[in-house]
Amino acid sequence: MRYVSTRGEGTATLSEAVLRGIAPDGGLYVPEAFPTLPPGELDGAHTLAEVAERLLAPFFAGDALAGELGDICREAFTFPVPLRDLRGRTAVLELFHGPTAAFKDVGARFLAGVLSRIVGKDANADARPLTILVATSGDTGGAVAAAFHGRPGVEVAVLYPAGMVSPRQEKQLTAWGGNVRAFAVHGAFDDCQRLVKAAMASRELRADRRLSSANSINVGRLLPQMAYYAWAAREYVRRHGVEPGFVIPSGNLGNAAASLWARTVGMPVREVVMATNANPAVTAFAAGAAWAAHPTIATLATAMDVGSPSNMERLLHLFGGEDAARGALRAERVDDAEIRRVIREGPEVWGSVWDPHTATAVAVRERIGGEDWIVVSTAHPAKFEGVVEPLIGRDVPIPPELQRLLDQPSHAEPLEPTLDALRDALGRPAPP
Ligand SMILES: *Cc1c(COP(=O)(O)O)cnc(C)c1O
Repeated sequence: MRYVSTRGEGTATLSEAVLRGIAPDGGLYVPEAFPTLPPGELDGAHTLAEVAERLLAPFFAGDALAGELGDICREAFTFPVPLRDLRGRTAVLELFHGPTAAFKDVGARFLAGVLSRIVGKDANADARPLTILVATSGDTGGAVAAAFHGRPGVEVAVLYPAGMVSPRQEKQLTAWGGNVRAFAVHGAFDDCQRLVKAAMASRELRADRRLSSANSINVGRLLPQMAYYAWAAREYVRRHGVEPGFVIPSGNLGNAAASLWARTVGMPVREVVMATNANPAVTAFAAGAAWAAHPTIATLATAMDVGSPSNMERLLHLFGGEDAARGALRAERVDDAEIRRVIREGPEVWGSVWDPHTATAVAVRERIGGEDWIVVSTAHPAKFEGVVEPLIGRDVPIPPELQRLLDQPSHAEPLEPTLDALRDALGRPAPP
């Protein structure tokens, strides 16, 4: 399997696509052609790791890591991903039982397994250490830090805006130590992102280290997300005898793209509906507008505050242009008032406590009616206690993995938002 850029130039192996992150022409890597899995191909695969290994085998075919796919899957899918039946032929797929209690753990752990093996393989060819730079406004950085912590040959530098992430989020960024360094940048998230881009482009910085980024456009994060859609759709068919639709809380559209890729290779996914917060880019497009970026709107579902979702480029490529994509995509927008209502009513209506992201999908499920929907739950409500607890009038118990992290000491290094300051900081050893 070769990977091509959505903008058309050049092809890459899977390992090359993962190491580069973004294609040289600025496009995103996508599989050159999607295989169709023969019926019965996944029969006998029961665990998520088993489903992932068979589903992803064609996507690793011909790559240097093909023989290690099984190990990579067993390492990545160590936490449970329950599919819980609710009432009214609705189920919820809980993706938040990983170390940082959000679905980004899945993609980040798989990517870490792939990248650390690539580094191990070419250590002789290039002995410089690999530094993964991550700019984060909260969730992504924690998942990447957790996934790479303790991996030999790889360092992680997490850049976050000082004072602008929640205390629990900050803990998830700073509790690691070792090969993970957290920099509290005196600036906004945009400054962090600008610094990472400048570093990636800096010849001076790249002279003595290899730099890579681990943001959500890496194809190594998307592929493993196909696996839980394949597993959940098959499990739903086994229980209920019909194909489910998925309602997905969406921001950068990586999760939605993975579900559509799973459908494309033949998984029993009836339909996909993207639930967005008040940010209008996707719903405006679905309603007939040309694809366009919008200014970002701050909402309660912060991890979905995206004005210009990057993975739309992959969806346009998948369907073959704007008109075809518009006909194939379904999206619904949910404002903060509705998020609040759904969280407040969650315990009574669904017997569940929802986080603000999952609440967008639950709102859409309630709005569109019908049967046989799987609502995708992307975060544990204890991560967003400041929003959730006042609405439901009680505390949300903290899951044990999250509690363990909150009990660790913090290691954060202050950083001025300049490339010189970042270069100096990376050049000196991490404080003990
Ligand atoms: C990142 C994130 C999303 C959005 O996922 P995309 O793949 O960017 O669409 C939704 N919910 C949570 C909790 C997230 O962290």
